[in-house]
Amino acid sequence: MQRIGLRVSLIALMMTGAFGVYETVKTLLFPRMTVITSHVLTTLVVGALTFVTMRYMLLRYQQLTAATERTNQLLQAVLVAMREGVLILNPDGTVALYNPTLKEIFKWSKNPAGALRLTDITNDPIIHKAFHDALHFGRSSEDYVRLLTPESSSFQVHITPLTSVGGRAALGAVGVLFDISKLERLERVRREFFDNLSHELRTPLTAILVYVETLLDGAISDPENNVPFLKIVQKHALRMQALARDIADLSAIEIGHVRLEPTAVNLVSLVDTIFSLARAQAEAAGVTLVTDIPCGLQVTADPHRLEQILSNLVDNAIKFNHKGGAVRVTAHAAGSAVAISVNDTGIGMAPDDCSRIFERFYRVDKSRSRAMGGSGLGLAIVKHLVNIHGGEIHVESTPNRGSTFTLKLPGPPDSAHSTIAPR
Ligand code: ADP
Repeated sequence: MQRIGLRVSLIALMMTGAFGVYETVKTLLFPRMTVITSHVLTTLVVGALTFVTMRYMLLRYQQLTAATERTNQLLQAVLVAMREGVLILNPDGTVALYNPTLKEIFKWSKNPAGALRLTDITNDPIIHKAFHDALHFGRSSEDYVRLLTPESSSFQVHITPLTSVGGRAALGAVGVLFDISKLERLERVRREFFDNLSHELRTPLTAILVYVETLLDGAISDPENNVPFLKIVQKHALRMQALARDIADLSAIEIGHVRLEPTAVNLVSLVDTIFSLARAQAEAAGVTLVTDIPCGLQVTADPHRLEQILSNLVDNAIKFNHKGGAVRVTAHAAGSAVAISVNDTGIGMAPDDCSRIFERFYRVDKSRSRAMGGSGLGLAIVKHLVNIHGGEIHVESTPNRGSTFTLKLPGPPDSAHSTIAPR
């Protein structure tokens, strides 16, 4: 504003000077000009000068307005695009500006007739104190705040005073809220993973050490115990080996190091192969293996990875079954996808367990699962593998009645599964 005032004064000064020069030149050039002609000439010259000046000022005004408009639009666009919540308070504590993310965070419903105030948005004492300190003492702050919005979310809140360029006028204070709930969740998952992992390693290692010490203390020469003890050592070592393999597999999938080679896989022959490998285990458990898949039904998948997925589900279906029970693998075309189900008549699970069994190391019955040699990572790997195939998996289960795991995978590109014949 100051600069505009200066310019107007300068223009007025220049016009006064130009008019003086004009009067002098006119008197020198036309000393005998009549008063009327002189007035007409002066009016014309003053009119022309005023017109040029007004045009110039109008142009400058339009340029300034366009620049201000553009700055405002940019500011609005940045505020809307920000994933952080932004709240700006005027020096008197009323709300000057906020962005959509802030509204998303606090979801306040109060819309006062007068100016919106901080109390209309939140009652959080930490945020109120931080804004108070910024507005009244010019202090910046960095705080951690937990809000119920309505789920519990954690935020890092940075509040700082705003001053004009040069720091003379206090313009208010700005608060930036950054949602760190997701980071916290990831950190919790990471911690839980390492807690579980150290536990999984410690259990077989302790057993191995105990039996090795017993053998060294003399049991090695005891013909009744030496071989059984060595077998226990072997069992725990194998368990550790399986755990190491599963961890390597899981992390390779998670960091995207697993390259799939999808092709049309014939489900009947794949399931036959899996059953022939699982037959001995099923017979030992007294479980019957049944398959009911239409002949020629195909699915688009990496054959090795699909075998890994189904073997894991069949293995669990045998392990968590009752003697005399059955494992049934069925499949059918479902639109452009193929649905494959692995059903068992075993111990089943409660609904709460169903929603968690795809988590790493989650087990319904820890001791039973460990005794069966499971690493607790099998279903987490299965879920990841199904996902990277572009498919999905879910489970339905009833305690003591059995479980059904159903996965949906893409069918072959030419939908060849529509030409299938019953087996
Ligand atoms: P594990 O190595 O323990 O088998 P998984 O990730 O394969 O690990 O399975 C996780 C848990 O889910 C198992 O410990 C078991 O409690 C439960 N579970 C998996 N499959 C079945 C099933 N078919 N019936 C009942 N419970 C199951």
